Amino acid sequence: MRATFLGVSTILLQDDASAIMTDGFFSRPGLLKSLLRPLVSDEEIIAAALSRLGVTSLDAVFVTHSHYDHALDAPVVAQRTGADLVGSRSTGQIAAGYGLDSAKFRLAEQGQPMHYGKFEVTLLPAEHTPKGKFPGSIEHPVRPPASIRDYKQGGCFSIHVRHGDRTLLIHASTNFVPGALAGYEADTVYLGIALLAKQSAAFRDEYWREVVLQTGARRVIPIHWDAFWKPLSKPLRPLPRVVDNVQASMRYLAERGEADGVQITMPLAWEAVEPFGR
Ligand SMILES: [Zn+2]
Repeated sequence: MRATFLGVSTILLQDDASAIMTDGFFSRPGLLKSLLRPLVSDEEIIAAALSRLGVTSLDAVFVTHSHYDHALDAPVVAQRTGADLVGSRSTGQIAAGYGLDSAKFRLAEQGQPMHYGKFEVTLLPAEHTPKGKFPGSIEHPVRPPASIRDYKQGGCFSIHVRHGDRTLLIHASTNFVPGALAGYEADTVYLGIALLAKQSAAFRDEYWREVVLQTGARRVIPIHWDAFWKPLSKPLRPLPRVVDNVQASMRYLAERGEADGVQITMPLAWEAVEPFGR
């Protein structure tokens, strides 16, 4: 099984027979543009990204929550690749507004394993990073071009993946539902670290405990640290200091990793890797 990180919490997982993806956010509209103008999913950018990845078909796209930096392109990616789109009711409203065939949308059922080839995927309850913008649920179909405000958060999920005897967790948002991951092991955790350095020391420790120690992960791959308004065609840049302190978050992870015997590996965009290490 190979995993390819594609910025924010977009990750492609594939083996020789099947392929699944989280979020599928490729358009990455510029910051000013995304605040001042309605958002549009950029078909050309998406087509170019899928072609660079060599992906012509996907079995499923799983949306971690409905903010635009996760859900903006998901129905388009699903449409282009014939994938099921799996997500919350809010994500369903985005899919409906984009005109995705309703038979292709699968409402997420927490704790219910879904099977795509050798992939067993289970969506687990998660909580958004504290003080997230645009909370609440989407109650009506989102027809593009739509405002950034229309992409309300909706339900948040942590995505547990079993492939053969290996397991991983894609945990996009820097927060947790206490106990939600109990009983779920993960060899590797793709750990959302947006604004981690802005949280209290107690919160950081609790987050590490609830997500990394709880799952027994031996490896952590930080995600959601890149400036998501810069194009994916250029090397990823960390969120700027006015927004976050990615360096401080990384220092924290390095210390905890060292103390608890967890390897911390920064992902490179576009590089298909074996996610479990040796
Ligand atoms: Zn969000």
